[in-house]
Amino acid sequence: MKEITCKLLVIGAGPGGYVSAIRAGQLGIDTVIVEMAKPGGTCLNIGCIPSKALIHAADDFHRTAAMAAGRNAMGIRAENLAIDFGRTMAWKDGITGRLTMGVAGLLKKAGVKMVVGRARFRDGKTVEVETETGQQVIRAENVVIATGSAPVELPMLPFGGKIISSTGALSLAQVPERLAVVGAGYIGLELGIAFAKLGSKVTIVEALDRILPLYDTQLTQPVAKRLSALGVEVLLGTKVKGMSSNGETLLADAADGEERRVAADKVLVTVGRKPVTEGWGREELELDMDGRYLRIDDQCRTSMRGIYAIGDVTGEPMLAHRAMAQGEMVAEIVSGKRRSWDRRAIPAVCFTDPEIVSVGLSPDEARAAGREVKIGQFPFSANGRAMTLSSEEGFVRVVARADNHLVLGIQGVGAGISELSAAFSIAVEMGARLEDIAGTIHAHPTQSEAFAEAALKTLGHALHV
Ligand code: FAD
Ligand code: NAD
Repeated sequence: MKEITCKLLVIGAGPGGYVSAIRAGQLGIDTVIVEMAKPGGTCLNIGCIPSKALIHAADDFHRTAAMAAGRNAMGIRAENLAIDFGRTMAWKDGITGRLTMGVAGLLKKAGVKMVVGRARFRDGKTVEVETETGQQVIRAENVVIATGSAPVELPMLPFGGKIISSTGALSLAQVPERLAVVGAGYIGLELGIAFAKLGSKVTIVEALDRILPLYDTQLTQPVAKRLSALGVEVLLGTKVKGMSSNGETLLADAADGEERRVAADKVLVTVGRKPVTEGWGREELELDMDGRYLRIDDQCRTSMRGIYAIGDVTGEPMLAHRAMAQGEMVAEIVSGKRRSWDRRAIPAVCFTDPEIVSVGLSPDEARAAGREVKIGQFPFSANGRAMTLSSEEGFVRVVARADNHLVLGIQGVGAGISELSAAFSIAVEMGARLEDIAGTIHAHPTQSEAFAEAALKTLGHALHV
């Protein structure tokens, strides 16, 4: 048995864990990171990155298909259209491969020791890892738990065979002819739209009476319209019961009590993710829980001294950039810096068609918080750049305090709007007022002008509507 000691041990090399380890290494902290799969975690290997690669490929294919059919106003024609899906997937795997190798390289450059295997706590300061070459014991002054999350399985639709999770959907060998998607949340809609564009007949079954319950209906309405244009059938208020006895058809109960039958070659179940709180010896520790998540304070400290937790295992929002920000903060705390969680803005971006961005408070959230607000909205149909891109659907909306014009939240929906999320976040994080945004020169012609115009609209004098 081999034994090592270190000042900081990080369990899990997803965005939370690897960022924490890199920053700790940069700060000269003697750091070890343990990962049982590949560096980069869910995000780089089976989440954010491969899904966005597939979404982009599907977009390109669909746009070209529209051209082939002569369905574009610019008069572009393309002939002999086909997609070699094997090559699409190989291209996607190439991207994740480059990124995971990159993370391994960055860890090495920061002087972090990487141990490959499943970590398990023996006690609060000792972890054992089953590696390929035998057991490794690691004694650490501080431990960061960054074990992430896993897809929720429905008891009546256990994963296996044609019932797949997002991981299965991102490694399909062929585009399924008929795809049923259970859950109209982030993953169901991002991947459901991508497969619809790749040619699948997609049916989405959602238990609630609306899609993307996280966002208000004004923001989701353009996505609902696009789903309809893509021929995606969306069954709202519909509860899945399981597969038919011959395994061919997904059975569900519609809101009106009628049984719905959805013939499917693959059934993608995307009904949320659960924190990975088992399989690493939590039973050996005394960690307080916050529901199903590990309880943390504003420094990501758990209820045990010297043990921190970050990322999806600590709760919502389960987003890669939140995990990374927590990871960076914890490394600095371990190095002795005075840090605590003081972030105002965690942007949420849904990579649907069109994309949705939300930063800070929505109008309803601001009102619920007791604020008197001013709201202004600017449509992309009045934005020159959006017209030149043939993507006039959507808008930017600004929510500000009525009294002093402090910006409380910014939301938007539109093609490519994910790239505006940084501008929105900076405004909220830096405490911008409407006048700051309206007084900033936004380059012409860009979609970002819609942001300045939305601020002007909130002030009562937009120029281009
Ligand atoms: P993870 O990335 O889950 O990493 C945890 C790591 O810990 C894993 O590598 C795991 O193997 C390892 N591990 C667990 N237990 C042990 C153990 N006992 N020993 C050793 N290693 C262990 N978020 C976004 O912000 N933007 C997106 O566009 C986005 N798209 C997504 C698309 C999909 C399809 C999915 C599934 C998720 C997406 N997410 C997205 C969410 C994002 O992937 C997660 O929020 C993020 O990966 C969380 O990071 P983490 O470090 O907490 O955990
Ligand atoms: P989600 O929470 O976004 O959506 C789940 C959906 O499934 C909800 O609409 C819910 O009402 C529905 N649902 C739940 N039980 C159901 C049932 N029995 N039948 C039918 N519908 C049911 O979950 P997800 O799409 O699995 O994504 C998980 C998490 O991953 C997200 O919450 C997010 O944190 C992260 N993620 C983020 C991004 C991004 O940032 N762009 C992309 C993908 C995933």
